[in-house]
Amino acid sequence: MSQTAPYPVPSPKRVTILGATGSVGLNTVDLIARAPGRYMVEALTANSNVEELIRAALRVKPRLAVIGDAGKYQALRDGLLGTGIEVAAGQQAITDAATRPADWIMAAIVGAAGLAPTLAAVAQGTTVAIANKECLVCAGDHMMELVRRRGTTLLPVDSEHNAIFQVFDSKRPEGIEKITLTASGGPFRTATMAHMQAATPAQAIAHPNWQMGAKISVDCATYMNKGLEMIEAYHLFPVDKDQIEVVIHPQSVIHSMVSYVDGSVLAQMASPDMRTPIAYALGWPDRIHAPVPRLDLVQIAQLTFEAPDFSRFPALALAKQALALGGGAPTVLSAANEIAVAAFLGGKIGFLDIARIVEQTLEAGDNGALGQWSRLHSLEDILGADAAGRAYASELIEQR
Ligand code: NAD
Ligand code: MG
Repeated sequence: MSQTAPYPVPSPKRVTILGATGSVGLNTVDLIARAPGRYMVEALTANSNVEELIRAALRVKPRLAVIGDAGKYQALRDGLLGTGIEVAAGQQAITDAATRPADWIMAAIVGAAGLAPTLAAVAQGTTVAIANKECLVCAGDHMMELVRRRGTTLLPVDSEHNAIFQVFDSKRPEGIEKITLTASGGPFRTATMAHMQAATPAQAIAHPNWQMGAKISVDCATYMNKGLEMIEAYHLFPVDKDQIEVVIHPQSVIHSMVSYVDGSVLAQMASPDMRTPIAYALGWPDRIHAPVPRLDLVQIAQLTFEAPDFSRFPALALAKQALALGGGAPTVLSAANEIAVAAFLGGKIGFLDIARIVEQTLEAGDNGALGQWSRLHSLEDILGADAAGRAYASELIEQR
């Protein structure tokens, strides 16, 4: 005799994780692995860390696992032999994975390398949890147009934008006066210029509150991260450029705020743990359990706030400038920053050189040296501006 459950059993959500081996990707894998039966994993993708991809695939049993580095194809095949998991390799295979039907796709590749797969995910018209902020910075207008056209639900994962999403009255945006992004201040908040001049990659990556990938950790140390987040917020929420402000909040408890015309300020608070915004996006519109430390305000005792110091952290001013300029400026800013951060991590330039490289590349763009600049009409224009920014910044680094 067949037995039926006395209550409706929801069918598992079909999910894909782009950038499954990164900090956001692995936290997503972890939340999924802790809820057996709730999710069916369609695809996991990674760039080159084949061991981590195999481990993640063995945990959540996707239908497909893709490694970007084609040289690692055999290792992936061997590692998943006998599991029935399909394997593929190469950059195109990552974008193809993003086109496979899914109810929910986590876009957690770092940098503009995530642009093609993220756009492919958005084009499905499904729900996309967006962690990859560089995509929005370099191609925000293009991506948001695609979101509107396809009816995609875009759920912000970046903790500040996730916080704003939770308290932003999107039905009545006219009641909103401004949004305030909080920033921890990173490892060099109180450092002297001399200290930052001599900073090593290990020091720059040592974030006081968050565990993250290397690139975003360096961006936090320069404050470029907050600048990219201002541009990200501009695309995600219906606010003007001058309605976005930044305040330094070293405890990282308030993740951002929305101010209303009646003087009310709504904030979202949580312990600094990315599993909270990821769980919010994974469960949305429901709430799901996240195994994070609960906020203990009595123990924290004090929440403090400061204005950002633009002179010690020029990257924030550069990003604001790029946001004001619009067109290709944010694309070039982000491209030059990616190149400069990689050069810093590779020991080729100093910490303070990162903002200098970005500034000089932006200036070159403003002077017309990067060609197409003021308006980006198509994806080709965006890729052109991105490539020009990268080439110019790389040349500046070579000349040093
Ligand atoms: P990470 O460096 O830890 O991981 C990046 C992932 O992208 C890895 O899975 C890697 O395999 C993949 N990847 C890298 N280059 C690739 C390429 N060329 N092609 C295909 N895949 C590639 O990065 P992360 O810290 O998890 O950050 C991911 C994104 O989320 C970034 O845009 C970051 O700004 C954003 N974000 C991260 C955090 C965080 O806590 N880590 C918080 C907010 C926003
Ligand atoms: Mg953030």
